Amino acid sequence: MARKRTPLSRRRLPPGKLVIATHNPGKLAEISVLVAPFGMETQSAGDLGLIEPEEDGATFLDNVRIKAHAAARAANLPALADDSGLCVAALDGQPGIYSARWAGPRKDFRIAMERVQLALGDSLDRRATFVCWLALAWPDGHEEVFEGMVRGTLTWPPRGERGFGYDPIFIPEGYDITFGEMDPDAKHAISHRAVAFNKLVAACLRPEGT
Ligand code: IMP
Repeated sequence: MARKRTPLSRRRLPPGKLVIATHNPGKLAEISVLVAPFGMETQSAGDLGLIEPEEDGATFLDNVRIKAHAAARAANLPALADDSGLCVAALDGQPGIYSARWAGPRKDFRIAMERVQLALGDSLDRRATFVCWLALAWPDGHEEVFEGMVRGTLTWPPRGERGFGYDPIFIPEGYDITFGEMDPDAKHAISHRAVAFNKLVAACLRPEGT
């Protein structure tokens, strides 16, 4: 007789201080809003003066774990890190973990999008995926990790002034507009970050007072 599998137990994060392992104020603001309903009081690694670790992992998962554990150890508090990027099927997953770096030192995403378009050349395979990994780490070394992704296709030329990064060339599956043309609330409802975040909330967070 088939036996029911016990669900993997996840460590809960009680209300209190949470370090957001980023030096990017935009990311801190976005994540703070998401965790506020769960009684989390956020501070960024930047505000705490923590040194940014070198993201020298080979995968999103490696890098997100490096960031979360470095911040949790240094602050002696639970820490949440995220790492995301665009993976293009015909480019063997590139730019992937190098998504930000493809924009060069001036972080010019027109250049990054042109690089993707140039690398694709005449390829008819325009499939791409936005990927987001989240890692929640505790000072004792425990961790919980979550992945979110949204599939889509790439279009050229870029369309839309909204969003950021590669949004103007990415059309999510089931839509005919790019993330750059989409209402921000609509994007946030289906994005790779939303998918990963919903998994984290379901596994580790409880609304205040419940
Ligand atoms: P990081 O996670 O801060 O290392 O940045 C990842 C890079 O991936 C960003 O600089 C963007 O180029 C790209 N990226 C991640 N998420 C999105 C998105 O939702 N839209 C557009 N580009 C994104």
